[in-house]
Amino acid sequence: MSTLRDSIQDGSSTAIIVPGSPALTISYAKLRQDILAFQQKLAKLGISPQAAVSIALPNSYPFIVAFLAASWQRAIAAPLNPAYKQSEFEFYIDDLSSALVLVPQGQAEGPAVQAARKYNAAVAECYLGSQGEVVLDVKEQGRLAGHGNQNVAQPTPDDIALVLHTSGTTGRPKAVPLTHRNLTRTMKNIQATYNLTAADRTMLVMPLFHVHGLLAGFLGPLASGGSVIVPGAFSASSFWQHFTTHKANWYTAVPTIHQILLKSPKPNPLPNIRFIRSCSSPLSPKVFKDLEDAFGAPVLEAYAMTEAAHQMTSNPLPPAKRQPGSVGIGQGVEIKILDGEGKEVAQGKEAEICIRGENVTKGYLNNEKANKESLTQDGFFRTGDQGKKDPDGYVIITGRIKELINKGGEKISPIELDNVLAQHPAVSEAVSFAIADELYGQDIGVALVLKDGSKLTGEELKEFMRQKVAKFKVPKKVFFTNVMPKTATGKIQRRNVGEAMLAQEK
Ligand code: ATP
Ligand code: MG
Repeated sequence: MSTLRDSIQDGSSTAIIVPGSPALTISYAKLRQDILAFQQKLAKLGISPQAAVSIALPNSYPFIVAFLAASWQRAIAAPLNPAYKQSEFEFYIDDLSSALVLVPQGQAEGPAVQAARKYNAAVAECYLGSQGEVVLDVKEQGRLAGHGNQNVAQPTPDDIALVLHTSGTTGRPKAVPLTHRNLTRTMKNIQATYNLTAADRTMLVMPLFHVHGLLAGFLGPLASGGSVIVPGAFSASSFWQHFTTHKANWYTAVPTIHQILLKSPKPNPLPNIRFIRSCSSPLSPKVFKDLEDAFGAPVLEAYAMTEAAHQMTSNPLPPAKRQPGSVGIGQGVEIKILDGEGKEVAQGKEAEICIRGENVTKGYLNNEKANKESLTQDGFFRTGDQGKKDPDGYVIITGRIKELINKGGEKISPIELDNVLAQHPAVSEAVSFAIADELYGQDIGVALVLKDGSKLTGEELKEFMRQKVAKFKVPKKVFFTNVMPKTATGKIQRRNVGEAMLAQEK
């Protein structure tokens, strides 16, 4: 099982359920047939080995078929957020020299198509046809004109199957190529970590255009032979209805989504949830506890990055220990905490979290500088995250190296501060960040969203922090805001939060 072709089984059991009235239920056999049929259409259109196919479709059956068919055809699938604006589409389509851009039905004049035209990519609408088939409706042939009728291909483990860009939290997004081997390794790791079997029913919550949804929410569960429930975009109001109707038994999401679910009406009676997985941003011990209390299921926090085809570590299933505030242990990968010279530091000491495993990319596309900086001599990949291991080997992330607050040489972990701030009863959300300071170079700023009806002054908050942390970690400036600025995937860009707060003050 080391390509996306041989990791999808055949047979009559249910692979995919798309909620609706009526719901669409797809068996593994039908899925394979649909992929094969779409692969033939791609070959006919002129998609050759390792050409890039940009998929600007929402979570849907056509996305799934197009994605898998592209990879079976040895092409490179490049999912894109369908909500991008034209300039964003241009950046990604140009970066990969996409041969083809897939858009939803009726969007042949949308921003993705305008961008595709600029770079002479072919354009096709992709949607579910009246006979249940996935349609490839070619609108423009672009650079594929005259190159049609390619052979149907067979992928090899070292072909690139997917290119996704990093989230761009700390700088310009970097293009990460992932091979079939990288992806199938993560799929096996996900299966093994959560003991996924054909009996599991996964509720897909996250978008398929990021590794979180694609690998942990979809491909990993699919490779285990279970069923995946694929609604469109996440909606708190329909989440539990789909979850119970289709008998899901677990989901994976970012902390923002868990928090939305905590604030929304709970299903009564509660469904039987085997576990809840949290990943991609820090889960505060408080939200961890609230989730376990509210839904009566073990919460497993995991740690992932695009460059590792998603998962690196996770807390294990019970009866093994779950450690709130920790992202758990390496899962099918080696994790070491290394210093700047690539030497492992003593247990408990903080340095850079590094990873080695079959899931890790061979290197960014067209970015020699980043590739040199990110690999150690022993082939460990530098994550850019700072962390340490507890005595049981559980990894604790203390911050991104680029986002640590450097107060006169004292490195302060913003995540640690966020967790303490979240303990204040009036605080709903808290983000700490560096602000410029004449004396120390940098000092601590915090942005707070208060709970409805709560009151708090900056001075009261500082007094609270004085009781909880060493004096040098007490924030210098406290900002109050109604909404915390976030990226499309719910990530906090600390630098941007800081800039937004300072701008708001003026
Ligand atoms: P860029 O690399 O472009 O700055 P990014 O690192 O946010 O963006 P992703 O690959 O989407 O892009 O995210 C990986 C990062 O997300 C990790 O390096 C880590 O900083 C953060 N992360 C993932 N899981 C967790 C977690 N459980 N707790 C804290 N941080 C996490
Ligand atoms: Mg990164």
